[in-house]
Amino acid sequence: MKRTISISLAVLAAVCLFRASQLLNTAHAQNGGGPVVHRVNPESLPDNGPETNRGNRPGIGDALTTGGTGVVTPAITYHGGALIQTPSIYIIWYGNWNQTNGSDTPAGQQIVRDFAGSIGGSPYFLLNTSYSAGGYNITGLVLNGGETTDTGSAGTRLRDSSILNIVNNAISGGKLPYDANGVYFVLTSSNISEQSGFCTRYCGWHTANNGSVGHLRYSFVGNANRCLSACAAQTNGPNGNAGVDGMISVIAHELEEATSDPDLNAWYDSGGSENADKCAWTFGHAQYLAANGAWANMRLGTRDFLIQRNLQHNTSGDLCKVNANQN
Ligand SMILES: [Zn+2]
Repeated sequence: MKRTISISLAVLAAVCLFRASQLLNTAHAQNGGGPVVHRVNPESLPDNGPETNRGNRPGIGDALTTGGTGVVTPAITYHGGALIQTPSIYIIWYGNWNQTNGSDTPAGQQIVRDFAGSIGGSPYFLLNTSYSAGGYNITGLVLNGGETTDTGSAGTRLRDSSILNIVNNAISGGKLPYDANGVYFVLTSSNISEQSGFCTRYCGWHTANNGSVGHLRYSFVGNANRCLSACAAQTNGPNGNAGVDGMISVIAHELEEATSDPDLNAWYDSGGSENADKCAWTFGHAQYLAANGAWANMRLGTRDFLIQRNLQHNTSGDLCKVNANQN
């Protein structure tokens, strides 16, 4: 079950959006066992603020929003819920990922596969080991579960509620296994709209729900090529695919939240923000120009990526980082 939130267009400024998502999460936290809401990756880059040293549309040659290096408050705390020690990524390619140009091409899919195969054990993902608690030992590893294609079982105009059906059907139809430690990602092609808020309120989200096949942790990440100004940090990506490069930063965000807060009752702060929310759309101080001139901040496997920072939990204060040694 999901709560529906109506938000007027007047609050579509990025900062307000972020607050809107926090309000939504607060409602969940106060409800305890009430309706499960999803946690969103806020739509747009933050405006200039105390933690940013650049505007949200940097000029040519400027690094992207770096974010601050100080302690991030309020602190993130553990609320006792389950964690996923080692998540498995499952991908459902929804729509038409077989185009000859644009973002949703077989070459674009390969960028995502390469990311999924190299994020586990990376210095970036190892930041999540700081959330081990309650007898759960987060390893920082990620398993590559598998993938399947759904060319459009729920049509081209999705709602949030469609995503659970798409995941559940992939499993009940035998296209993917049921995995209690799985995080099932529905990645849409650029001709698919998600009308509950993609591109206007969020770029992706994760949640948990019971399907007919069992308890599912899953995520929607929309094709950023539909709205690069909202859901990508730059209009060129380090892998030459602005839409997919933008999606990967959102996938990383949702994966680490699904690891540390899979059922929305584990790690979040007093405002309801999860680990990656607190560093959303900041890329740190290790940015460099990839060979094609796009900004990147980490190399995973044989590729460069630009991925928003994650929060490292420390008893002495939480910090946004790209890895243990670098803000
Ligand atoms: Zn988030």
